[in-house]
Amino acid sequence: MYFASDNSGPVHPQVLAKLTEANQGYQMAYGADTLMNEVRDRLRSIFEAPGAAVYLVATGTAANSLALATLSNPWETIFCSPVAHIHEDECNAPEFYSGAKLTLVPGTDKMTPAALRRTISLEETRGVHGPQRGPVSITQVTERGSVYSLEEIQALCAVAKEYDLPVHLDGARFTNALVALGCSPAEMTWKAGVDAVSFGGTKNGLMGVEAVIFFDESKAWEFELRRKRGAHLFSKHRYLSAQMAAYLDDDLWLTSARQANANCARLAEGLRGKGADFLHEPQANMIFASFPRAKHRQLHKAGAVYHLWGAQLEGADEAEPLPCRLVCDWSISHEQIDQFLSHL
Ligand SMILES: *Cc1c(COP(=O)(O)O)cnc(C)c1O
Repeated sequence: MYFASDNSGPVHPQVLAKLTEANQGYQMAYGADTLMNEVRDRLRSIFEAPGAAVYLVATGTAANSLALATLSNPWETIFCSPVAHIHEDECNAPEFYSGAKLTLVPGTDKMTPAALRRTISLEETRGVHGPQRGPVSITQVTERGSVYSLEEIQALCAVAKEYDLPVHLDGARFTNALVALGCSPAEMTWKAGVDAVSFGGTKNGLMGVEAVIFFDESKAWEFELRRKRGAHLFSKHRYLSAQMAAYLDDDLWLTSARQANANCARLAEGLRGKGADFLHEPQANMIFASFPRAKHRQLHKAGAVYHLWGAQLEGADEAEPLPCRLVCDWSISHEQIDQFLSHL
């Protein structure tokens, strides 16, 4: 019963098989491998962006930080939600790589166009003394399991464009959002006004690969220099390429995300039936719910693994509802989900 995160699960067997297949003979290093040419072409075609610049890195933090560094200048500020991964979970790597700072847009996990416009308008009012306006970063799926609609992404990008600012999309769970919306990758990105994407793979079955995609090819060389300088250019790169190739083969990326979302829907429905309260409406593969401390204790004893959300298991009031986060990946079985629910 493992619901701690979608990076806790195993690597998909098809990915391991592809790594073994790629483990033959010799290949040029540093991204000049033949598989990378294939991956680049396929991602360009999937995104309907023949001129896009496509790169692979091993972590989401590297993808976000290097993408944002490429989109910003050290004297600028990056706009994001107060719970953005780039703010809460990357140990200031975006600031470190970019030299820029972050400005939080007041609200919850989903930025609203009004709050974004207000926040942007309040910056750059102190001339040379203050931070200059920089990129807007949107997380899709959000850190609270919500999915921005296409209209919401378009509206945020429109605000950014009013100020001539680039837009970055943190897509650590890109495909979970994509299948939830039932749209195309192009619609969720450049057609809506997004300039650069961190296209996640690790949380959806890969060993450790995320793609960074720039729809403006003129960013390519700067990104390459930043990736090398930032120590994220892999020399035996074919093993990154092989993972991404396996991800795209036979639509594994889509199948895995659909499985993860369906697993989450099954768990959410069961929780609803047991009277759990939802802190956020689950729209992809993450649930934020609360139920009594006594139930958490029972689940804990039974071996369930997940994160309490800012709460303590130890306390006097056994009936007190405690919030938790439950994440489903593609590999969680119906048996594990039903076993979890049986303890409630
Ligand atoms: C997991 C995650 C990342 C990437 O994290 P790494 O641990 O650096 O791979 C980025 N953004 C979001 C929203 C995430 O959930």
